[in-house]
Amino acid sequence: MSAAPLRVLPALHASHAGCWARVDDLPTRAISKGEAVTAAADTPHLVLNAPVLASRLGYPDLSGLDLLELFAFVHPARFMVPTPKGLAHALGLAEPANDAAVPALLQEAAAHLLATCAAPDWAEREGAWTALQSLIRMRWPWATLLNPVIERPARAERWLFTRLPEWEEAGEQHQPRQVTLDDASVLDRLADLTGRDAEQRPGQRDYAIEVARAFAPRARAGSPHVVLAEAGTGIGKTLGYLAPASLWSERSDGTIWVSTFTKALQRQLRQESARAWPERRADGSAPVVLRKGRENYLCLLNLEDALQGGFAGRAAILAQLVARWAAYSRDGDMIGGDLPGWLGTLFRQRAIASLTDRRGECIYAGCPHFRKCFIERASRASAQADLVIANHALVMVNAARGRDHAARPTRVVFDEGHHLFDAADATFAAALTGAEAIELRRWVIGPEKSARGRRRGLAARLADISSYDEAGSLAIAAAREAADALPGDGWMQRLAEGAPWGPVEELLAAVRAAVYARDESGGQDAGYGLETEAAGLDGALVEKAQGARAALADLRLPLIRLGVRLEALLEEPPDWLDGAGRARIEGARHSLTWRIDMIGAWEAMLDRLGGAADAEFVDWLAVDRSEAREYDIGIHRHWLDPMKPFARTVLEPAHGVVLTSATLRDGEDWRAAVARSGAGHIEVAPHLTAHESPFDYAQQAEVLIVTDVPRGDIPALAGAYARLFEASGGGALGLFTAIRRLRAVHGRIADRLARQGLPLYAQHVDPIDTGTLVDIFRDDPAASLLGTDALRDGMDVPGHSLRLVVMEQVPWPRPTILHRARRLANGGPAYDDSLIRARLAQAFGRLIRTRADRGHFVVLSSAFPSRLLSAFPKGTPIRRVPLEEALQRIANHANGQLPIDAPDVRPAR
Ligand code: SF4
Repeated sequence: MSAAPLRVLPALHASHAGCWARVDDLPTRAISKGEAVTAAADTPHLVLNAPVLASRLGYPDLSGLDLLELFAFVHPARFMVPTPKGLAHALGLAEPANDAAVPALLQEAAAHLLATCAAPDWAEREGAWTALQSLIRMRWPWATLLNPVIERPARAERWLFTRLPEWEEAGEQHQPRQVTLDDASVLDRLADLTGRDAEQRPGQRDYAIEVARAFAPRARAGSPHVVLAEAGTGIGKTLGYLAPASLWSERSDGTIWVSTFTKALQRQLRQESARAWPERRADGSAPVVLRKGRENYLCLLNLEDALQGGFAGRAAILAQLVARWAAYSRDGDMIGGDLPGWLGTLFRQRAIASLTDRRGECIYAGCPHFRKCFIERASRASAQADLVIANHALVMVNAARGRDHAARPTRVVFDEGHHLFDAADATFAAALTGAEAIELRRWVIGPEKSARGRRRGLAARLADISSYDEAGSLAIAAAREAADALPGDGWMQRLAEGAPWGPVEELLAAVRAAVYARDESGGQDAGYGLETEAAGLDGALVEKAQGARAALADLRLPLIRLGVRLEALLEEPPDWLDGAGRARIEGARHSLTWRIDMIGAWEAMLDRLGGAADAEFVDWLAVDRSEAREYDIGIHRHWLDPMKPFARTVLEPAHGVVLTSATLRDGEDWRAAVARSGAGHIEVAPHLTAHESPFDYAQQAEVLIVTDVPRGDIPALAGAYARLFEASGGGALGLFTAIRRLRAVHGRIADRLARQGLPLYAQHVDPIDTGTLVDIFRDDPAASLLGTDALRDGMDVPGHSLRLVVMEQVPWPRPTILHRARRLANGGPAYDDSLIRARLAQAFGRLIRTRADRGHFVVLSSAFPSRLLSAFPKGTPIRRVPLEEALQRIANHANGQLPIDAPDVRPAR
């Protein structure tokens, strides 16, 4: 392919180590930050990831010709790590040797991508010319450079909404046959999946047989088989459960659901399931389907709105790039699917979110794109699938309020089962906050005048009812009137000014005042969120709560009347109701039920304020803040034990459920795991099985507890992090329990490390989404990464890229009101210890992923309690050492030795 740049564009690159620029084909120059900012402001430069460059230069208005945007246009739906090295790999160019070589790479990459568009074999050509015409009008910086190289097609291009295929309707599924799996068949299937010549793994064979018990026919209604299966890292648990699961599905003709907590595991499952199922069946349908919540998928109607003027400025350019992607996407998944995670941060993450269907505004069969809708396609495909890969939240939501009873999961494997409790906690919670209430108002009334787009409220979505059915029309009008009492645009401002409007805003103002008056968490100065328990509230607040409750009841009643009316119309359809209208009414009835339940839960919560507390729930008032800026205010209610509703909605209707993880037990103790499975709430005794990791932790890993870094001393903490990362030559993950400390440490060490060729990335600092941060870290063995809990739980980085984990301190639980209630109900300090051990075990589990992995796990703690040491796998050497010795040991390891000669300090168990 011949490179065809119109001219050699100037290029700019900055890292924590400095700035470099190249003009034409002159030698690259190292320049100051000031020079870089002036150059970028004067002339558009080629850059890679403008938001990151802007944060490196401290110049937020930086713009330029961003190679990432060009890549997204030329190769939509193609994976790329958004770093110079990642760009080089994606385009088949030579990696830059150092920072100074990056500007030349950017010039080469631009020329390469422009030449791709001129080449006759460009795979993603269709639709490009048409999209470019819109992008020229929007003055997208790349458009003038692309215009001469993209040839006008001989025939008009089909637009996206005609190009996408339609999904097929399928008949109802039979119920599965009742089958029992014998051990020999399970082992035979396992051998098929692992390969007949593969090394035999006794742990994996035992595990597969134990898991298979969950798929036996159920003896009593409401009593599923529940198996809790702990499989130490390296057992091969994925194939271990896919063997019996695929066998059961084949013999019974039923659907197995595997639910995960992280997207990384979903990706892995998709790959591994290819050993058991083909990509397509003979009839073209997919036996394996990845299914997510509807808020993950592109809504084509929202996209159409955005393309037709709903989005303006940069967001309109984003809509064009998303439309390019949608035509090539595998499944329309925008969050963690094949839409690059970095695309949202180049524009506005909120713009990406507003292209999905987050708030149940879907008009189903009333939508012109219904037959091509990605969400409908995914939901239909999962009803026909042998294996559905989902996440914990979706399985629970589907069980609690799924549209289709027949599609509810009855055989489920919950992998990453240690997260089930937290997922249930979030799913079954209720929150009456300003943000939630305003969404409800918009759902009923439609957007306020300033908003664009199709969000037009209940009356418009049910226009045929409004015009043909009087009772329905009256109910819609009454709901519309009642929704006026909910908070509207500008509610936060009004609260801050002491001028709330309507009963719910008045309540929120009282909540805000009470929280500020009573909070003693110390968060007021630190800028954190604030909270206070919903007890001992004064009479004025309770009165306001009753006013808000009455307003909510006024809204709920007409919604119930409307639901009854819709039901009647479906049962005895009038002449004017055609098939599309019927489907639309079914959709509306479904989202109506969900809203009615939500309002009912809010009313119950308000009723309790000022009265006796309900022992089943923990209620509190909160002001959510980020860096002292308030972003939401409201009342929260969580189940004291969220596994209770989980047991009723998910376990009880199921036939077989497996909970599996590398860390279910606390040491050797099953009690907490059993309690956190929910099985006790339906009086089922779970089958318990544990399989030790085959790894040789004595040789592969070492835990170092560094005893001489004083707690709370940020300079000392930062110094320790820098020296530890230097000793290992990067490849380090730094875990923090507070964002504030993470930022403080990052600010002190990033430049120092960068000057030694050790790039440092950080959650909450770099304008990069978490998934992309992990991709960048995985791709560069010299890189290190700082992050918080979410990072610890979502990482799977086997091999040399991760060889050191450093925790800033013992990961104590945050002392929230909810935590205090659960601590009290579950044995006090022992509850905390078991939570901390679980966190340590999880964090340690990031380090050693394969037999070849080697590494150090460091906790900076002068007084690490011995009772927590059982968190680490048996055989792992554990030492309490001063920082100097830790550095020595890590440096020795980096040079090829992992010393294990000092005494282990763990108490005997
Ligand atoms: S059917 Fe619903 S989710 Fe799908 S494109 Fe239409 S409005 Fe969006």
